[in-house]
Amino acid sequence: MDSSNIFNNFEEKPRLKAIFLDRDGVINHDPSDYTRNIDEFTILPTVIESLKILKERGYVFIIITNQGGIAKGIYGHDEVAEIHDYLREVCESNDTPILDIYYSPHHEVKGRSLSRKPGSLMVERACARYNIDPKISWMVGDKQRDIDCAAAVGVRGVLINPNDALIDYIDKMV
Ligand SMILES: [Mg+2]
Repeated sequence: MDSSNIFNNFEEKPRLKAIFLDRDGVINHDPSDYTRNIDEFTILPTVIESLKILKERGYVFIIITNQGGIAKGIYGHDEVAEIHDYLREVCESNDTPILDIYYSPHHEVKGRSLSRKPGSLMVERACARYNIDPKISWMVGDKQRDIDCAAAVGVRGVLINPNDALIDYIDKMV
């Protein structure tokens, strides 16, 4: 019997490197208030192209988004699900699949939550579930709270201007 097999079984699985992406203002055009439903959801022009390049560099993609409009009663989980099904479909058909989407439905108007950014719970859960190494991962967001939620877990951040071309920011994510 080859004893090396015994040890191979206990080998650690390699950890993934991820790009965590805020949604509104990074993936889709943010009119600077809420994206209420799929009719208001427009993917920004360079997003898919950027994801293709980043995928070639070995990254997986996870969306981390605050959807406090739910707590405020502006829209519901169903509208969010419809948007996210569509986004997954578009990414899938472009061969840049989204590994997972985390959203926080909470807002301070209804009480505090550790999941709502700048809370780090969504990023922590993603790292644990998918065996992601924070040190080789990035968070891209258009608000400081996006950067802060990931920094708390040791993930580096790239702060972009809202609705800017994502492709202009991907150089440092190698
Ligand atoms: Mg945003």
